[in-house]
Amino acid sequence: MSGFQSVKDQNMSRIYLFVFVLLSFCYGFAAELQTNSTYSADVPSWVTKNRIDKVTDKIQMFLEWDIHRVTVIWYKNQTAFEKAHGLGPSVLAVSRKNDNTVLVGPKIQSDNFDAVFGHELVHVISYQKYKDAIPKWLEEGLANYISKGSTVDYKYLTAHPIPADVTQLTHPFGGTDDNIRYHYMASQALAEMIAAKCDLKNLLRLSVGRKMESYLDTYCQIPDLNAAYQKWLKSKTPKT
Ligand SMILES: [Zn+2]
Repeated sequence: MSGFQSVKDQNMSRIYLFVFVLLSFCYGFAAELQTNSTYSADVPSWVTKNRIDKVTDKIQMFLEWDIHRVTVIWYKNQTAFEKAHGLGPSVLAVSRKNDNTVLVGPKIQSDNFDAVFGHELVHVISYQKYKDAIPKWLEEGLANYISKGSTVDYKYLTAHPIPADVTQLTHPFGGTDDNIRYHYMASQALAEMIAAKCDLKNLLRLSVGRKMESYLDTYCQIPDLNAAYQKWLKSKTPKT
């Protein structure tokens, strides 16, 4: 009887081990992954070097920069992720300048990875290459614009009161969800507006080690950003 039990136990152990390996393979975080620009100790199984390289190449090419290798930390647990960044539940991923890391939350899956990761890499290059040159009111929108993660809903923007000064849109994580949404959307609209008025790549080139804002007037013919934004919104809204 005991011999029979022991064989049964061994079989059960094998089954448990097989299930564990299968689950690790399907949902697991068991692989270390290094690329030229990123290092992760532990990535989900759907993340491949190819996938990371594809996103990284696009952003690096636009911003003309080879990323100093950034550490990417993947969180399996939402509470632990929120505790690590302290910016509330709406954040999907966050980049941190002080230790050159990108924290990726558990809501990042294969279908939203490219846009969100690309967005974070724009922030990484912003602090690695441009230092303080890119104004805070533009950075979130520029990150969306370059990563092509979302499109501007001009109907939504015009349905809201236009801020007296768009350069005050500097705290995307404060306020209500609607405030946060407005901030990202307006910032992206400003990025689109600037790109329509001058060569954005060249503007970025000019801004290295300087303040981009000083070139908006001289290079992009935008002497008054708020007036230009109001005019831009009007031009984007179909007349009824
Ligand atoms: Zn961002």
